[in-house]
Amino acid sequence: MYTVTNPATGELVEEIENSTDEEVLAAIERVHHGYSSWRARSVAERAKIVARAAELFAERADELAEIMTLEMGKRINEGRGEVGIVVDIFNYYADNGPALLADEPLKVSTGDAVIVKQPIGALLGVMPWNFPCYQVARFVAPNLVLGNTILLKHASICPRSATAIADILHDAGVPEDAYVNIFASSRQVPAILADPRITGVSLTGSEPAGISVATEAGKNLKRTVLELGGSDPLIVLDSADIDETVKATATARMRNCGQSCNAPKRMIVLADLYEEFVDKLSKHVTDFFQPGDPADPATKLPPLASASAADEVAGQVAKAIEQGATLRAGGHRVEPGAFLEATVLTDVTPEMDAYYEEIFGPVVVVFRAEDEEEAVRIANDSPFGLGASVWGTDQARMRRVAEQIESGMVYLNRAGGSSADLPFGGIKRSGIGRELGAAGIEEFMNKKAIRL
Ligand code: NAP
Repeated sequence: MYTVTNPATGELVEEIENSTDEEVLAAIERVHHGYSSWRARSVAERAKIVARAAELFAERADELAEIMTLEMGKRINEGRGEVGIVVDIFNYYADNGPALLADEPLKVSTGDAVIVKQPIGALLGVMPWNFPCYQVARFVAPNLVLGNTILLKHASICPRSATAIADILHDAGVPEDAYVNIFASSRQVPAILADPRITGVSLTGSEPAGISVATEAGKNLKRTVLELGGSDPLIVLDSADIDETVKATATARMRNCGQSCNAPKRMIVLADLYEEFVDKLSKHVTDFFQPGDPADPATKLPPLASASAADEVAGQVAKAIEQGATLRAGGHRVEPGAFLEATVLTDVTPEMDAYYEEIFGPVVVVFRAEDEEEAVRIANDSPFGLGASVWGTDQARMRRVAEQIESGMVYLNRAGGSSADLPFGGIKRSGIGRELGAAGIEEFMNKKAIRL
C-alpha cells in the first residue's frame, strides 16, 4: 500500500493500492517499447523537452512544496528550495547534455578511433522520501537527455510527489512510455531486475535496500548506481567567529529535519574550541530549532517524515545515553506528530552503537579531537564515506585536511549542499557511482569505441 500520512498530525490522508504483478509487467513492456523511439530522437530534441520540464517544475514549485510538506513534513520553504535545485538540474542537463554526449575522438597507436556515447535501454529508479523531487531529478534528467527510458518506483509514503513528477515530465513532452511511474512494492523489485528488458538500476536509500538491490542486480548482471547512507564528519579546525560557525553548522545539520544523506552528522572540534562550541551549539539548537508546523514558513524544525522514523531516532538517542553518552540538548519525542527535539550528544565512544550508526534525524554528535591528526582519524573511523566538511580560516590547512578524508566529497566552510554541476556520491558503504555534473550522465551510458 502507498499511503499519505501527514507527519505533523498523524492523520491518514490517502491510501493507494500497490501495482499488481501484471501492471508491473505491463509497465516494463512500455518502457522497453518506448526506448527505441526515444533513443531515435536527436539529443537536441530530448534536451529541449528536458528544458521544458525545468520550466514546468518552476511553475509548479508551490504545488510540489505543498505535497512534500503533507507527505513527509518538509518545511514549506525548504520544499520550494528543493524545487529550485530540481530546476537547476534539468536546466544543467538540457544545456550541457549535447556537449557531454558529443563524439570523443581517441588517440590510438594506429589509425583513428572515436568514442560515441549512447544510451543502454530501460532503467529502474528506486527513490527515497527525504528529497522526493531532487533525488528523482538527479537520476532522471541526465538519463532522459542520454536517451534511456525510466521505470520509477518512488518511496511508498510519496505517491503524490511521484504522480506530480510524472505529470510534469509528460506535460513537458516526455512520451508516456519513456517515463512510467509504478506503485510497486519493494518485494516486486527483484522480479523487475530479473527481467531482461530492464538494463540497469539506480537506488537512493538505506544500506539494507542498497544491499538487496545490488544483490539482485548482481545476479542479473545489471548496471547499478547506489546512493546510500552517510555519517558525514564536519571538522572545525579554528574559527574567526565561533557564533557564526555554530549557527552555520547547526543549520546544515538541521536542514530537512536532519534527514539528509550528506548532513554533517558528526562534528569534530579541536580541543581549544570544543567546550565553547558545545555550549553554544546546545543553546542555539534549543532556542532556535523549536518544533512546529511545517506548513508555517516561520517554523524552524518540522516533524520527521513519519512517526516510526521519529521513534527510531529517539530510540537511537536513548540507547546512546543508556550506553554512556551525555545528552547536552533535546532528546525528547514531541507528540502529537512525528516530532523530535533538536538534540546534541557528546562523549560518544566506539563501544556505543551511535558511534558508527547513521542517525537520520535532528541529532548532532560532537567529538573532541586533540589535534588535526586525531580529527582526521575520527572522521575516517566510519563505515560510511559520503561527504565531509572542513571549517576554519586557513585555506591551505583546510585543503590538507580535506585531502586526507575518506569520502566522495568534501566542502570547505559549508556543509551538506549540492549543485547540479558538481558530482555527488560516496565511497565505502555510502554507495557506488556518481550523480550530477558530467559524471552523472555517464553511469548508464554505452561508451562505444569505433575504430575507423
Ligand atoms: P529506504 O527505506 O531504503 O527506501 C528507499 C527506497 O528503497 C524506497 O523506494 C523503498 O521502498 C525502497 N526499498 C526499501 N527496501 C527495499 C528493498 N529491499 N528492495 C528494493 N527496494 C527497497 O530509504 P529511506 O528511508 O527512504 O531513505 C533514507 C536513506 O537514504 C538514508 O540512509 C539516507 O542517508 C539515504 N540517502 C542517500 C542519498 C545519497 O545520495 N547517498 C540521498 C538521500 C538519501 P518503500 O518505500 O516501498 O519501502
